[in-house]
Amino acid sequence: KATRVGSTAPTVFAEMSALAVATGSVNLGQGFPDSDGPAFMLEEAERAIASGINQYPPARGIPALRRAIVEHSHRHYGLAYDPETEVTVTAGATEALAATFMAFVDPGDEVIALEPFYDSYSASVEMAGGHIVGVGVFGPDFVLDLDELRAAVSPRTKMILVNSPHNPTGAVLNRTELTAIAALATEHDLLVVCDEVYEHLLFDDVEHLPLATFPGMRERTIRISSAGKTFSATGWKIGWAMGPAQLITEIVAVKQFLTFASGAPFQPAIARALDEGDAWVTAARLELQGKRDRLAAGLRSVGLEPALPKGTYFMTTDVRPLGYADGLEFCRDIPHRCGVVAIPHQVFYARTDAGKPYVRWAFCKSDPVLDEAVRRLVSLS
Ligand code: PMP
Ligand code: GLN
Repeated sequence: KATRVGSTAPTVFAEMSALAVATGSVNLGQGFPDSDGPAFMLEEAERAIASGINQYPPARGIPALRRAIVEHSHRHYGLAYDPETEVTVTAGATEALAATFMAFVDPGDEVIALEPFYDSYSASVEMAGGHIVGVGVFGPDFVLDLDELRAAVSPRTKMILVNSPHNPTGAVLNRTELTAIAALATEHDLLVVCDEVYEHLLFDDVEHLPLATFPGMRERTIRISSAGKTFSATGWKIGWAMGPAQLITEIVAVKQFLTFASGAPFQPAIARALDEGDAWVTAARLELQGKRDRLAAGLRSVGLEPALPKGTYFMTTDVRPLGYADGLEFCRDIPHRCGVVAIPHQVFYARTDAGKPYVRWAFCKSDPVLDEAVRRLVSLS
């Protein structure tokens, strides 16, 4: 195989979902909801298929979706982008990330990322020939170490990759942390890539502050998001990247040879969902908050104290109280012991074993499913 291809092992998400099927486990591992997005969105996709929207859409996405994406960004954050030149639709946020790295990372370049980080980051940066430099070493109480962040910048640093709300910890960066990242990026003239896929999955009164709204940042920031998360349609793989025209042009130059285009009938449906306003998203967020509290109480009742997330649909616990030192071993063991699947944190770390005792639990599931998971976990304690 080519040297750029890393491990051929399936990702931990594929491994754990397969284990859930093989053992009949409740799957709180891979992050996908067990209910669908809004009915009006699903009906729009059906209508699109029936009315013949089944051939290649434009590479940058259909005009209606690009307009809906930029209007949504303006409505929520006051950030204005030109739908013709400053946004492109992609095959999920995953393609937006991969195309961004291929467009801007040269062999030997470094990309700073908040560690622990989502597994595709290091794989795609390495396929582009670059290296990820992790900063943070966050336990479940996730505090960004700003001194470490400053120390991580080197002459080879090309970009900072910021994921907030953050997978897997559920942390949401605050104004102080974002101000420090912005200062560093402008001082060293770095590109900033913001993975904002969980922008609407926030709890209590926590706010998502896009880094692009900070002074001097819009012109150097690429914002990436995904309808999969916002509208519970992870299998549709409709994502996007937004940023200054010259940066989006480079991303499209790569994207046109990765997929060219994708998801024709889903694009009008996502445009409709974005245009519809925020009622569905707000209700979904409140419902998710209830699920967060429900699973947190359940995990607590079996001796696992969760770190309460501020955003995303994941929460983290330390598994040592149940007699395990290693989260991966725990996650490979408990499907057989009690029929529940979770995701070990350690796969999100590149340079330390700080994540070893932690596991991530997805709570974007129906209440009976969450309750059943807790009922099964009782036998471990
Ligand atoms: N970034 C993060 C932080 C994610 O958690 C995910 C999905 N799990 C993605 C990107 C990929 O999103 P998509 O499914 O739209 O490709
Ligand atoms: N982003 C999802 C998660 O963190 C998984 C996506 C995947 O399976 N690659 O659970």
